[in-house]
Amino acid sequence: MKAAVMRGIRDVRIEDIPVPPLLDDEALVRIRSVGVCGSDIHYYTHGKIGRYVVQPPFLLGHECAGEVVEVGAAVRNVKPGDLVAVEPGVPCRRCRFCREGRYNLCPDVVFLATPPVDGAFAEYIAHAADFLFPLDGVSLHEGAMCEPLSTGLQAVRRSGLRMGDTVFIAGVGPIGLCALQAFRAGGAGAVYVSDLDADRCRRAVALGATQAFDASDSELAAKLRELTHGLGPDIVVETAGSEKATAQSVEMVRAGGVVVLIGLSPAAIIPIDTIAIIDKEIDIRGVFRYANTYPAALSMIRRGAVDVKSMITAEYPLDRAKQALDDVAARKPGVIKAMVVNG
Ligand SMILES: [Zn+2]
Ligand SMILES: [Zn+2]
Repeated sequence: MKAAVMRGIRDVRIEDIPVPPLLDDEALVRIRSVGVCGSDIHYYTHGKIGRYVVQPPFLLGHECAGEVVEVGAAVRNVKPGDLVAVEPGVPCRRCRFCREGRYNLCPDVVFLATPPVDGAFAEYIAHAADFLFPLDGVSLHEGAMCEPLSTGLQAVRRSGLRMGDTVFIAGVGPIGLCALQAFRAGGAGAVYVSDLDADRCRRAVALGATQAFDASDSELAAKLRELTHGLGPDIVVETAGSEKATAQSVEMVRAGGVVVLIGLSPAAIIPIDTIAIIDKEIDIRGVFRYANTYPAALSMIRRGAVDVKSMITAEYPLDRAKQALDDVAARKPGVIKAMVVNG
């Protein structure tokens, strides 16, 4: 089969590789849409994320949807011809975290395009069938968008959002825009956002943000206080991976509020005001991927509670996967989510 194989940093080539073998509980999926994610770009440009190091040959791509073409003997939930969203992380199903339903914390999770596990920049993948979800009318592109949307849903769940809560989201790239829509759909009141990119700010407002701010505005914290009767937002979500925004989040959030961290800042260890955390009894919660979100994500897309389609700004055939990676890596203006398509 054809695949876009990473051979080194910024080196991706189209090659012919074997179709993966199929286990009894797996389905062979012909990949049709794959979104290019920030993590793909990081592997592509740096060759690693933390302790995950790319050993070429390697396949990127984990936000995907496609068509089931063959199923293993034990598979009951999907059949050949089904169009499915692929949940990329398959956990062990046996450890404490899996049994508690927090399978995103499973130490043995096998996650597409996370070294050494290959991703979906290929014609086919073999995937555990219980992590495939029939699209039932949702488009393939939207099926692939269930992945970043899932991170947005996980952020809402982790935040403990209550109806009418005021939310501030730092960074409205794809994850920020998904989080914005998830908070809106989940019953948030005002949702304020910030970004350095004016185009992204405009998109955020079009997708329901109450107001968007330039992230470099030194008055941002003061303005948010003013908009919230001097208290600060109930929930602050950091998606930008900005050290400044991460440190600022505890300053901005109201006393008793919740800070949700999603974005990975370049330095893992950063100065943060611990006195503010104690004084204000702030809860700081991390978001690592997601668990049990795909059915909700599909249902929300299907009934129009969120709009993930408008976030897709570019499309590339698999043959041009390298161009897709280069364009996203260069932060080509106007590119939010690039899709690699196949057939
Ligand atoms: Zn992703
Ligand atoms: Zn497990």
